[in-house]
Amino acid sequence: MTATVLNAVSLKPYNTFGFDVQAAHLIKAHSERDVLFARDFAQKHSKPLLLLGGGSNVVFTQDFDGVVLLIEMRGKSMRLLDEKTAALTCQAGENWHDFVRWSLEQGTQGLENLSLIPGTAGAAPVQNIGAYGTDIHDWLHELKAIDLSTGQTLTLTKAECEFAYRDSVFKRTAPQRYVITELVFYLNTQASCDLNLSYGGVLNALQAKGIDKPATPMDVSDVICELRSEKLPDPIVLGNAGSFFKNPVVTSEKAQQLNEQFDGLVAYPQLDGCVKLAAGWLIEYAGFKGHVFGGVGVHDKQALVLVNHGGGTGKELLELAQCIQSKILELFGVELEIEPRVY
Ligand code: FAD
Ligand code: NAP
Repeated sequence: MTATVLNAVSLKPYNTFGFDVQAAHLIKAHSERDVLFARDFAQKHSKPLLLLGGGSNVVFTQDFDGVVLLIEMRGKSMRLLDEKTAALTCQAGENWHDFVRWSLEQGTQGLENLSLIPGTAGAAPVQNIGAYGTDIHDWLHELKAIDLSTGQTLTLTKAECEFAYRDSVFKRTAPQRYVITELVFYLNTQASCDLNLSYGGVLNALQAKGIDKPATPMDVSDVICELRSEKLPDPIVLGNAGSFFKNPVVTSEKAQQLNEQFDGLVAYPQLDGCVKLAAGWLIEYAGFKGHVFGGVGVHDKQALVLVNHGGGTGKELLELAQCIQSKILELFGVELEIEPRVY
């Protein structure tokens, strides 16, 4: 059956900020065939294509005179490679968090720190999602994608995805070129359990619950879900896209200079000698926490999260973001880079 083309569609239900812009066309892809149909449709009408999963990492600032392709392919499976490793395969339209929980229910370990990140599995490699010391590239083996420039399906190795901190080939060098359709993870089986509890809050939360070692991957997922629910606004209640800026990475000299100048600066040395600064701390220090700007604002519990209080627009949000960026540059001499994709 041919996919349906919807016309003049509001994207409000399709982005977690809840910004009300309109797309000229929207097509839901349940298969690779639907993706190719959308590609042909866009080419025939000389319109751009915009890939969309759960809309939890996009900022819509204007109407889109093109074809939004909503990725909805479903399915997942598991096979044992040997007694220590299992290969888990996931279609792009699966809900990421549901897939993480399912992976844990199958008795595998690896994805637990990435629990409760909103959105689809297919979008997860785009910014190499990460939380609590784990990035998706730590466990991804390879992925399948359709190259929209040729219509061919390819398998991309991890190296070909060019993963970096909240970045990849899909975000940086070739945005909107590849439709990611399937992910393959190589995960530990429980027997070789190797939990990453490097972020202090996770270990403390496990201990506070009376779960001393050995905690299970499911225990870690549970406490991370609790930590995140306490701190982060639920997009259903308050529109947001998670962290709005990447944590800036500076030279050790710059970090030392800031440390002498600003009491309590939150900074983490990196393996390459550079230092990662907590952008949320910089924004809070600059006095923006809880700041309201028209219909948008800065979250009152986590200054790194910008929110839509209702009725706000993407343009307003970008104005606020630029105001924050200028202040942080002026105060600390540090540039903040916006994390979500702006359209
Ligand atoms: P979308 O917003 O729909 O799309 C994001 C980008 O990917 C767009 O450029 C889109 O064109 C592209 N894209 C979507 N699907 C595909 C596909 N199949 N193939 C190719 N390109 C595609 N992120 C983190 O890294 N760590 C976190 O801890 C985290 N926490 C969050 C908490 C909250 C409350 C929220 C709202 C967001 C958070 N995020 C976090 C950001 C976001 O959830 C992730 O980036 C997520 O992977 C986006 O998935 P999505 O399906 O919503 O992508
Ligand atoms: P947090 O624990 O208050 O820490 C603040 C920042 O310091 C984090 O962004 C984190 O950087 C860094 N950090 C903390 N402990 C660290 C350690 N032991 N080693 C290195 N860096 C450390 O952060 P939070 O807001 O509650 O978020 C918890 C985790 O979820 C973080 O990893 C965060 O990235 C992730 N998260 C991401 C988004 C998003 O949209 N991207 C949204 C919500 C939460 P990193 O960000 O580099 O990890």
